[in-house]
Amino acid sequence: MRDFLATRARASPDATALVDDHSGRERTYAELDAAVETTAGRLAATGVTRGDHVGVLMETRPAFVRLAFALQRLGATLVPLNARLAPTELHAQRERADLVLLVCDAETESDARAAADEVPVASVDDPHEADVLAFGDREPGEVTPAEWTREDALALLFTSGTTGDPKPVTLTLGNVLAAAGASAFKLGVDPDDRWLLCLSMYHMGGLSIPLRCALYGTTCILQRGFDADEAVRALDEYDCTGVSVVPTMLDRMLRADERIPGSLRFALCGGAPTPAELVAACEDAGVPIHPSYGMTEATSQISTARPTEAFANRGTVGRPLFGTTVTIVDDADEPVDAGETGELCVAGPTVTPGYYDAPESNAESFGPHGLYTGDVGYRDDAGRLYVLNRQSDRIITGGENVDPGRVAEAIRAHSAVRDVAVVGVADSEWGERVAALVVPTDGAEIDRDALEAHWDERLADFEQPRTVVFVNELPRTASGTVDRAAARERVVEAAG
Ligand code: ATP
Ligand code: MG
Repeated sequence: MRDFLATRARASPDATALVDDHSGRERTYAELDAAVETTAGRLAATGVTRGDHVGVLMETRPAFVRLAFALQRLGATLVPLNARLAPTELHAQRERADLVLLVCDAETESDARAAADEVPVASVDDPHEADVLAFGDREPGEVTPAEWTREDALALLFTSGTTGDPKPVTLTLGNVLAAAGASAFKLGVDPDDRWLLCLSMYHMGGLSIPLRCALYGTTCILQRGFDADEAVRALDEYDCTGVSVVPTMLDRMLRADERIPGSLRFALCGGAPTPAELVAACEDAGVPIHPSYGMTEATSQISTARPTEAFANRGTVGRPLFGTTVTIVDDADEPVDAGETGELCVAGPTVTPGYYDAPESNAESFGPHGLYTGDVGYRDDAGRLYVLNRQSDRIITGGENVDPGRVAEAIRAHSAVRDVAVVGVADSEWGERVAALVVPTDGAEIDRDALEAHWDERLADFEQPRTVVFVNELPRTASGTVDRAAARERVVEAAG
């Protein structure tokens, strides 16, 4: 099998592949294919060849898209690195991924060089326009398009590092094709669609958009990053039919402008729990939200709810995608009945063959029911999934199990609360006690008594936070997920 951009460029050369919102430049599939061929030649000149791991350190830019396809053309594996990592983290990931080359742009060059050691660094001159890698001024090398099998590693992506160090996940061509097919089956994507990319491409949710657009023949509108007003403007300007977001992005877009354009057919929303109020706000504003549950190890989506399902069944992330099996098991590894909670295990063609060079993590994470996600949830009688929390976040206080997600949801419903994280901290009397970091709505004063009265109505006594700390922002990982270890530290410090 050849790379799928080449296949698409032959099938629909004049269709618009990529619109760069920053420069206004549009490229057809034939033009993108030609640019990719040049980029592949530059990479080949540096010695990149089949099976090599090549790191890319940059924010979402047209050059990133070209590099992704150029590496595929050469049969090499793309290793996107999170451009927001601290230098020591970047260094650690660079080492774990066995890179032969690290590609960056002017914005990330100093970080790339600091992390590279003996690994050569190539910098892209202009990530918007140029197709040239500044790397010793060599002439482009000869490109021999690689033949792929489904088992070959298309990408190596790091998880977000919410529960520990980020883990490198091997995603094969077969994983990516299966995920693209199953997602399109749920969303009904075709060449008329126009998909807004405002996510980072070093996570699968963002990277998958240009890859899938080439498979579907769809147009990808690329923004340099996320800004709520800019995203709403682009949806309107380009008559976008699709967008992928994490819940906080959609929340900000709705606050920026409730009139989300009518052209929008799907807002794929995942990566973190979608608060009930956000689903309600989407229903009021007519935004076609598709709450999704996913993870890097499953090439992003595991399950997705359609808007009507999401509005009628608050909190659901829908049914598993076509071809994906989710088994929910108890502590004895036995599947549980509908309505009972347990650990979600996922299996199917989108699931990674394993973490790269990590036999211990693989032995820990895979078992009879597939990949053990560490996420806790249940399914209803209709087979719709509900994700509650991560096993590692479960709080056990005085022998009672507390779901921090449920507590957070109840607190967030208070109008003066913008955001909240609920964690368990060690307690000599109760084993653990429930604690909350609360971010007040801009300018709002939170009256502690009113907050307590609010949760008295909604939470059992043992679920109610014993410690509340008010903060301006929640601590987050480089990927934007709440850093729970840091949140615990903040609580302990404040109680100190
Ligand atoms: P690490 O594996 O390094 O700890 P991570 O799990 O945060 O990091 P990702 O692969 O980016 O890395 O995130 C996947 C996780 O995000 C899921 O396992 C789940 O815990 C959470 N998640 C994703 N979508 C949802 C959702 N709709 N509801 C609740 N949790 C979600
Ligand atoms: Mg994970």
